[in-house]
Amino acid sequence: MTSSKIEMPGEVKADPAALMASLHLLPSPTPNLEIKYTKIFINNEWQNSESGRVFPVYNPATGEQVCEVQEADKADIDKAVQAARLAFSLGSVWRRMDASERGRLLDKLADLVERDRAVLATMESLNGGKPFLQAFYVDLQGVIKTLRYYAGWADKIHGMTIPVDGDYFTFTRHEPIGVCGQIIPWNFPLLMFAWKIAPALCCGNTVVIKPAEQTPLSALYMGALIKEAGFPPGVINILPGYGPTAGAAIASHIGIDKIAFTGSTEVGKLIQEAAGRSNLKRVTLELGGKSPNIIFADADLDYAVEQAHQGVFFNQGQCCTAGSRIFVEESIYEEFVRRSVERAKRRIVGSPFDPTTEQGPQIFGPVQEILRFKTMDEVIERANNSDFGLVAAVFTNDINKALTVSSAMQAGTVWINCYNALNAQSPFGGFKMSGNGREMGEFGLREYSEVKTVTVKIPQKNS
Ligand code: NAD
Repeated sequence: MTSSKIEMPGEVKADPAALMASLHLLPSPTPNLEIKYTKIFINNEWQNSESGRVFPVYNPATGEQVCEVQEADKADIDKAVQAARLAFSLGSVWRRMDASERGRLLDKLADLVERDRAVLATMESLNGGKPFLQAFYVDLQGVIKTLRYYAGWADKIHGMTIPVDGDYFTFTRHEPIGVCGQIIPWNFPLLMFAWKIAPALCCGNTVVIKPAEQTPLSALYMGALIKEAGFPPGVINILPGYGPTAGAAIASHIGIDKIAFTGSTEVGKLIQEAAGRSNLKRVTLELGGKSPNIIFADADLDYAVEQAHQGVFFNQGQCCTAGSRIFVEESIYEEFVRRSVERAKRRIVGSPFDPTTEQGPQIFGPVQEILRFKTMDEVIERANNSDFGLVAAVFTNDINKALTVSSAMQAGTVWINCYNALNAQSPFGGFKMSGNGREMGEFGLREYSEVKTVTVKIPQKNS
């Protein structure tokens, strides 16, 4: 049974006893899930790989093989780029489509995801090891909201008129870039898929996307929904495969105009290099972090302990945003450590399909470093002493401390008295080696459009 009426916050299971009492109200995983889509999706068709190769996909909770998936490599990427270029060509159905209609298609896709929410959440759990309730309430909610947010933007991307010198009328057009290559990781397979395709399509681009080799199933299922929604052939192409082969072929492809990557810093460097060596395609990178979380003595201690715990343990700790360096003011340090250890010991590890499970199978692990600090100047310096700058957080009831710290942090996002408060409307991305560019919100549109200046000579009466 599923109920779409219940909304749960990010902390999916703060109270297992209350959860057990309300189990009959909760959505449940789809029983005997059938994996229908295991082929490469090009031109709205399911295709076998050119090489004939397939690769195994596993359930990380049991180690059992779930299915085999067609393995894309360079030849398949070439086919997909050809399809995406044709779909983007001047006069094509996609290029001539009204912007409002692009928005309607994205909205329709969101409707279909809502319809199949339990199936997709089951798939994220089966293939990605996430607790089912987290997948259903957090990941799927993020996917739906992202699609709807960018659906709304499609016909609101305005240019400017500019009062230039001389007898000219100048205006700007914000045009799609072209074919966008997109490469995503395994820790949020469907959410990263939505973060990538939604702004790209909203702006009128076409897409060649590669899900992570560990977690291709939900992305492939999206192929079926994309076709059902009515996107023209070639607009979105989905190619499961490995990084050094299919991924590298995207990064260096001469027919791809822009690449968006989420993953490790090491691979991010390779992507930027390949983009530079091939055709200087535009690059946005969302990479890793080693994020600081600063707790002052005047914060609500129980709340800060729980938020710091969720900040590092959420999604098995497999988060780019994980707040893994926790700085605690000296006077509350011992008590903070005591309560944090107690909280970590209460964390329920188990099958992702058990509704009381907080933590499923591990790949990289949550490590909560709890460090002591004495002064604000000292903690600001230590918090910023990192090559990364993805996010930071501060817990205090003193507005002056909160504002001083938030303005001093070298990070793309700073949370005050909260953690992992991400949403479709606000930009996300990193300072320093955590990445280039921003995704989400209005800023995300800039990364998927080119600005064109058009200047018209105005004839004068006497000339
Ligand atoms: P990864 O960099 O190994 O893999 C990510 C993707 O890149 C996969 O699709 C993989 O196949 C592909 N890839 C690997 N080698 C490649 C190559 N040579 N050329 C092209 N593509 C290649 O990362 P991972 O360890 O699988 O994923 C987790 C990482 O992602 C973590 O470091 C995490 O911090 C980061 N992450 C960042 C964000 C963010 O928004 N900043 C969000 C989620 C995850």
